[in-house]
Amino acid sequence: MLRFRSNGFPRFCVKFGVLFAIFLRYTITMRTLISFLLIGLLFSPQLRAAQGKHAMAVTSDPYATKAALEILKQGGNAVDAAIAAQWVLNVVEPQSSGIGGGGFFLYYDAVTKQIHAFDGREQAPQDAYPDMFLDENGFPFPYYPDRITGGLAVGVPGTLKLLQVVHSRFGSKKFSFSELFGPAIEVAERGFPVSKRLARYLEEHKKRLKLFPASRQTFFNPEGKSLEVHSLLFMPDLAETFKLVQKEGIRVFYEGEIAKDIAKAVREAPFHPGLMSEDDLSFYRVKERNPIRGRYRQYDVFSMGPPSSGGTTLIETLQILGFFDLAYYGKTADGIHLFSEAQKLAFQDRNHWLADPDYVEIPTEKIVSLEFAEERSQAIRWEYAIPTTQAAMSPLNLGASHTSHLSIVDEWGNMVSYTTTIESVFGSALMVPGRGFLLNNELTDFEAVPKDDKGKPVANAPEGGKRPMSSMTPTFIFREGKPLMIVGAAGGTKIIGAVLNILTNVLDFGMSLNDAMNAPRIINRYGPTEMETFLYENQTIVHDLERRGHPIRHEPSMGIAQAVWFDEDNHAVYGETDPRGEGSALGY
Ligand code: GLU
Repeated sequence: MLRFRSNGFPRFCVKFGVLFAIFLRYTITMRTLISFLLIGLLFSPQLRAAQGKHAMAVTSDPYATKAALEILKQGGNAVDAAIAAQWVLNVVEPQSSGIGGGGFFLYYDAVTKQIHAFDGREQAPQDAYPDMFLDENGFPFPYYPDRITGGLAVGVPGTLKLLQVVHSRFGSKKFSFSELFGPAIEVAERGFPVSKRLARYLEEHKKRLKLFPASRQTFFNPEGKSLEVHSLLFMPDLAETFKLVQKEGIRVFYEGEIAKDIAKAVREAPFHPGLMSEDDLSFYRVKERNPIRGRYRQYDVFSMGPPSSGGTTLIETLQILGFFDLAYYGKTADGIHLFSEAQKLAFQDRNHWLADPDYVEIPTEKIVSLEFAEERSQAIRWEYAIPTTQAAMSPLNLGASHTSHLSIVDEWGNMVSYTTTIESVFGSALMVPGRGFLLNNELTDFEAVPKDDKGKPVANAPEGGKRPMSSMTPTFIFREGKPLMIVGAAGGTKIIGAVLNILTNVLDFGMSLNDAMNAPRIINRYGPTEMETFLYENQTIVHDLERRGHPIRHEPSMGIAQAVWFDEDNHAVYGETDPRGEGSALGY
């Protein structure tokens, strides 16, 4: 069984807790004592950057990173580490990912030098239909809170099957699939201090969560007050669910008693009941897809293809930028104009074409071709910004960075870039009674209005069995055939831009990974040019861009990334977690 080792600050917390107990003449409760230990554990491994010689794990939460590191140190490989970390994330970031959701898993096999791309995306129930998010007058339900809450938006979850598939294909076999639940069960039963972000989200989403009795019971006290920062959260039902899967395998989730409970919870949801049946769960399959490949300057870029728009959009943007000397322009008004326009063009193509490739024909090869990038690059004008129509934008998310990304490399050089989600913060807000996990609301990634202005069906319209378009962008960068970076991010449709900002900061501007991650981001999603604070406050640049016709929007925080960088010359590997999140990096 994996255990967390404590050192430094946690040891201090334990000692302090014990002394404090003595001081209070043993009147202290056991719970308070445990809190000191757990607060210590929470803070101690919170290393934003790490350097290693052999292996590195970077995730959005210190507990998950620690679990991944323990697996790596005990001889597990990157796949094993990612699986253990995912289950811990399910516990400590219940708002972001877990067995009620889905994800995309990119794996580099150091022996065969092959990249494998797995699609564990949620899928619409067979009963789904194009108008499912329209009211009786043909108008879409308001996005927040209606469309995103309750059973209707729940897609068939893929995460559990995805990780079982990657484990059986590429796990080291040093750990069985069921053993990898160990660290998560431990944290779920022992409890963990609620993080700042989780506490804030609980407060913000309390109305939605309280619509569903299991969610209410898990996250709020009997008086209905939400948990405060550092108070202990226990997830006993989730621990039992994990134990049941350990004992009976994933069939219990897709064909057994949990499948029954999921279908029932969705169909009988007290708010926006949904369409899922037990058959939908038993028919769910993980799909191996071709990774998307592009070339940017002297680098090879590999990312996730459809139904994610991440890979094609990232590569198209980079390849458009490849026709300009971005480093020459730097972060001047000219440079930002160029950077924003390239994203805008690629996002326009994304919005038009991208969807589930099993339902819609997508000209993927064309989108990632250099010829097409060259053609698109010619649309950029220095004097003015290409006008956009707000209506053509995908729904803007609420600015929150839900979702999680994990970047991991093991001592053999196998790499994982894995983005995982339940879509909105707390997904549908619907927790399966007695099972301790939240269900996704991934079907909101479909276009709610299934036809365009001319009445033509849009590519990403809802349909039975279809997977909604995603923006998740798990990515590998290679230089001369050797791994250079692992990167990916959370952040809804801003994921693509967040990854792009980091890549150009490193590859064009020569920034260290740390600087690249910290630098204020500039994103365009076929709409306004969105800027993080430091750049937004530069009035000279903002006025120059406005003069060219860029509507400018201030966004304080866009995307939460996790990245690994290989320094071949020094035989070192660096891990870096985004300062916008609460993650950590650990290596050895
Ligand atoms: N549902 C989003 C997608 O697949 C990810 C969730 C998020 O980060 O907002 O692109």
